[in-house]
Amino acid sequence: MGARNPERYSSPPDWHTHRTLGQMKDAGWRLGTWCTNCGNAAPVDIDQLIELRGREASPWDRYIVCGYRNCRGRAIFKAATSRADLWYRLTRNWTRGV
Ligand SMILES: [Zn+2]
Repeated sequence: MGARNPERYSSPPDWHTHRTLGQMKDAGWRLGTWCTNCGNAAPVDIDQLIELRGREASPWDRYIVCGYRNCRGRAIFKAATSRADLWYRLTRNWTRGV
C-alpha cells in the first residue's frame, strides 16, 4: 500500500500532474494505444516505453503508427487506472477524426 495508490484516481489523468511517462508510472497509470483510424486498441508496456523514450518523455498529444493489419493509421495514447477499465485519451485538444 503505497502513498500513491492509483485506486484513488477516479478523475482523468491531469496534464500537469501526469505529464511525463515517469509521473504516470509512479502514479500507477496503465497505458494503451487506440487507433483513430481502425479503432484497434493495444496495451503499452510503460517500462519498455520509458526505456525507449525516457522518463521525461510525454505520451500526451503523441501518436504512433498503427501496425494492426497494415492500417498505418494514427494510434493515440490513452491511460487507465489499474483497477477500473476506464480509459482516458491523452490528448489535450481532441478533435473528431476527419
Ligand atoms: Zn489502425
